[in-house]
Amino acid sequence: MAVLGDRGVASLLSALAEAPDLPAAASFLLAQLVDITGAPRALVLRLDPAYEGLVYVASVGFDPEPARLSIPLVDLSNPVVISTLALVPVRGNKSLGFRALAGLEEWLLLPMSQPRQRGAPERMAPQRASELIASPGIAVLEPAARRLGVAPAGIVLFEGPIDDDAVAEATEVLALADPIVSRIATLDLAQELADQLAQRRDRLTLMVDSLPDPVVITNAANDIIAQNQRAERLLHVRDDDSPGRRRAIELNNLLFTSFLSKAAMAGVQQSGARELNLVDPDEGNDLLFEVLAHPLGERVGPEDAVLSVLRDVTDLRRAANELERQVQRVRQAEIGVRGERDRLNLVLENVADPILVTDERSNIILMNDQAEQLFQMTEMEARTRRELTAVRGNDTKFTSFISEFALLDDDSRRERMTLVYPRTGMELPVEVVSGKVKNQRGEPIAIVSVLHDLTKQVENERLYEALKRLNSELENRIKEATADLAEQNARLQWQSQEVERANKLKSEFLASMSHELRTPINALIGYSSLLLDGVLGDVNPKQRDALARGRAAAEHLLALINDILDLAKIEAGKMPLRLEDVSLRDVMLEVTQQIEPMVRKKQLEFEIDVDPDCPAIYTDRTKIKQVLLNLLSNAVKFTTKGRVSVETRCAADGVRIDVVDTGIGIRPSDLEAIWEDFRQVDQSRTREFGGTGLGLSITRKLLERLGGKVIVKSTYGEGSTFSVYLPLRVASGIGAEYTEENVTAVGD
Ligand code: ADP
Repeated sequence: MAVLGDRGVASLLSALAEAPDLPAAASFLLAQLVDITGAPRALVLRLDPAYEGLVYVASVGFDPEPARLSIPLVDLSNPVVISTLALVPVRGNKSLGFRALAGLEEWLLLPMSQPRQRGAPERMAPQRASELIASPGIAVLEPAARRLGVAPAGIVLFEGPIDDDAVAEATEVLALADPIVSRIATLDLAQELADQLAQRRDRLTLMVDSLPDPVVITNAANDIIAQNQRAERLLHVRDDDSPGRRRAIELNNLLFTSFLSKAAMAGVQQSGARELNLVDPDEGNDLLFEVLAHPLGERVGPEDAVLSVLRDVTDLRRAANELERQVQRVRQAEIGVRGERDRLNLVLENVADPILVTDERSNIILMNDQAEQLFQMTEMEARTRRELTAVRGNDTKFTSFISEFALLDDDSRRERMTLVYPRTGMELPVEVVSGKVKNQRGEPIAIVSVLHDLTKQVENERLYEALKRLNSELENRIKEATADLAEQNARLQWQSQEVERANKLKSEFLASMSHELRTPINALIGYSSLLLDGVLGDVNPKQRDALARGRAAAEHLLALINDILDLAKIEAGKMPLRLEDVSLRDVMLEVTQQIEPMVRKKQLEFEIDVDPDCPAIYTDRTKIKQVLLNLLSNAVKFTTKGRVSVETRCAADGVRIDVVDTGIGIRPSDLEAIWEDFRQVDQSRTREFGGTGLGLSITRKLLERLGGKVIVKSTYGEGSTFSVYLPLRVASGIGAEYTEENVTAVGD
């Protein structure tokens, strides 16, 4: 112990034991050894924990430090490896062949040992080391002392020639320091392992904590011995927890413990997943877990430990429930739809018109019985070829209509078409009314079509057309007839003009002839009267009778001619008026005197009643007389028994004279005819009553001239009343048309 001495070694070892770790210990030891050997450079290599090679630990004098230096143990030609494994010092003056140790020509290797442990590398026999090293320039030195129970641990490399004393001292110090360094290395290794373990534990904890599911390990007493963060939130009370949270967690612990107890009692067979209800301490709502329990055995901790993974299935369950509800709802809807469809079918079957529902590809998907009669018939059903053709024809017409409609944007469409009843072959005119059924997105999904039977309408239209044709034909015929009528009318008009002209000519002729006719008749009457009066000598009774008859015939002829002439004058507008104030009473008296002999002859009652208050009326006296004579003579003529009376009434606007008889009367059917010229109701009785049939005609015309009128009321077989109305004054206009010439002409 030339350099250090015993105390020095003791203090070195003591200081070495204080080193915090292996590199510090190695550096410290190396510094001491360099002091002893005087080597300019030195380094320490240690076997790595897996004993696969030597790695750098500490160095002195190297610049830079060969920190990356490592030597594999498999290279058994290397003196460093041999020295390490055989625990023999080796000296040499030959390069070791490592780039990190460049310039190291002369060196000394001193092996480091450690107590022999399980797994440490076997020590190489010194004999074998000498054989392996047999090389010029390298020499195996005698080890300091042969020790048992040691194994290789590393090596110290020195540079330069080192004398034997220094080698011996360094070897001794190293032998003393070896156990301490070994212990420090072991500690280092343990520390390292502990660090690695801690790291792994932290990682595992992090892993378990980051699991969303609570994970709990419990012992046989169901006490929790480990749990992850998620479990802690549910099951572990912290100091700062609110009372609410505490209660929730206590409750959870109770629930969890009772769950574990039940699971334990149920046995291993049923240790599968089971449901556990807990409370969320933060939110307060119910949580549902599925618990997967794994008995851990002795792998971890106590024997009966059980690992429980709580899978949160709250949301899952909620989703499942929701799904179940949805399924129920769908099922309910399905039932509803089925009911709806049944109702729809009922409606379809009960509608008299054919109804068809087609899908978006114009295929018929639904139809009622009425539609089936038109559109459905298989080849099997069809009794004849014609029936099948009819069905196909119907289908083609309908489908082409629907396909066209489907392509349009319109929501509805109507069209007339003629289908055929397959069974009867009869035509069926229909109006197809179709509407689109759309889904919520407005896309058409079906088309509903109703076929209205137009048979009646078509028939009506046909009838209407026929009626129209008939109508127009009728119209044409009426037009033709009207044209005929117009022609006839024109002809009639022309004829009436002709007649009128002829009439006028006739009247004019008669008026001019009157004079010529009356003169000879008056001569006849006059000479007859002279003979009858005996002025020209006596006449015997036979001659008298003949004369009387001749005179009567002449008088009748004169009356007839007078009447005819009167009428002719009136019609020719040549009847002059001689207007004056006329007393009705006087006129009546004159007329009575003339009529009286006839009345007396027929032994009739006769009465005249003239209103004494009647004023004189301004009229034509002669014509009034003629009127009254005509009416009175008719009354007497046509009355065989009873009475004839005349009644005169005056009013502010005129006079009314009624000539009343109880004679033969006039049939209602003859009341109009009696006013016509030459009209006698009963020709056969002319002889009996006499007359010309002109009296009433003249009467009426005379009264018209005087601004009056005459009307008759009669009951056949009982009598007649002829009423004359006269104005108090003949209007001046009426007489004005008569000229002085007319008056003169009347003078005869
Ligand atoms: P006649 O000269 O024939 O009387 P009238 O013109 O005076 O011609 O009369 C026409 C006809 O009217 C008569 O033939 C007679 O048939 C009928 N008639 C006129 N007055 C009366 C009467 N008072 N009662 C019954 N029939 C009368």
